[in-house]
Amino acid sequence: MHERAERLRTAGAGINMYDNGLRVLEALGAYEDTIRGGARARLRETRDEHDRLLSVHRWDIRVYGVLRQRMIDALAAAARRAGAEIITGSEGVAATPEGELQLVNGNTLKADLVVAADGVNSRIRDALGLVSRRRTLPDGCVRVLIPGDSSKDERTIEYWSGKRRLLYNPCSDTHLYLALSMPHEDAAARALPLDKALWRRSFPRLEALIERIGGDGRYDRFEYIRLRRWSAGRVAVIGDAAHAIPPNIGQGAGCAMMNALSLAVYLEQGDDVRAALARWEHAERPLTDHTQRISLLFGMPTFWPARLRALFYAAAARSRWLTAQRTRTARHVPTGTR
Ligand SMILES: Cc1cc2nc3c(=O)[nH]c(=O)nc-3n(C[C@H](O)[C@H](O)[C@H](O)COP(=O)(O)OP(=O)(O)OC[C@H]3O[C@@H](n4cnc5c(N)ncnc54)[C@H](O)[C@@H]3O)c2cc1C
Repeated sequence: MHERAERLRTAGAGINMYDNGLRVLEALGAYEDTIRGGARARLRETRDEHDRLLSVHRWDIRVYGVLRQRMIDALAAAARRAGAEIITGSEGVAATPEGELQLVNGNTLKADLVVAADGVNSRIRDALGLVSRRRTLPDGCVRVLIPGDSSKDERTIEYWSGKRRLLYNPCSDTHLYLALSMPHEDAAARALPLDKALWRRSFPRLEALIERIGGDGRYDRFEYIRLRRWSAGRVAVIGDAAHAIPPNIGQGAGCAMMNALSLAVYLEQGDDVRAALARWEHAERPLTDHTQRISLLFGMPTFWPARLRALFYAAAARSRWLTAQRTRTARHVPTGTR
């Protein structure tokens, strides 16, 4: 595995893993290390800026808030145990459908299969001309960690104030994860270091919490990416490189992991790499497409008037059909985990 950074570090603070992603972690032997000290979520609430409850969802599947770095470390340890060699400070530049990977140091490597998992700005994907649609979405998010044990709190709470929202997300015995979203054009709200006075005005009931935010933080604008195909010859594209998803239902990494494990399953079924890649995409892509559609849908109320948005969330929480659509990915039993 070639990673361009000097070490396997991750930005983005905390992350929610649902039953689908947790099953993949189990299959890889990375589950226990990932959830150690993590926060089991049993309730997902939506509230307004006055702390009034708009909707509530009671999880009947496993959901954990975890530290991203803990999960990356657990995955890297599992990969090494399985014989993977992880080479940091090594950047891929391009890959050919014949399975040649060019590195920035000038070396070219020959592979049976090159897997491009190089994120939303994937150079390898772009060099192969696979993108059919890329949309920079009108909103984004600042993510921060606050020191303190949050592992016993079983609620995640999404607070709304106008078009700003604050996700209160327990994630570990050492930290609490906050995700503060806003329209990209709201430059004051996304400025770093965070303008705490501005955020306190938006969420007066959360003053004490906002006061504890430190100087760290990272802003990312949401993106949506679709490919014509998930592969070109002996190159497969996975993760955000293939299907970046706005995080409204928290399934970007979940889908990335499911698609990575299922890729291995399909490759094991025969010697013909190209045929395996075609079968893999045919079988696995519909769920990722669904996840993207639902995530876009649940992001739309951001730009609606507050009353309409409150009505939408209340109705969505009561609707069995919409709840089934929203949680379909989380409930899925991924290929390779039975
Ligand atoms: C605000 C926010 C909240 C989110 N919350 C959740 C959540 O709760 N649950 C969830 O499942 N998902 C969530 N996601 C989505 C999730 O973060 C992504 O889907 C996931 O990180 C994608 O993983 P990836 O490995 O494809 O890409 P990345 O995480 O971007 O990793 C790509 C890696 O490739 C390396 N790289 C890049 N280019 C090269 C190159 N040329 N050569 C070598 N290495 C390279 C990078 O350094 C990096 O390490 C969220 C996203 C956002 C923005």
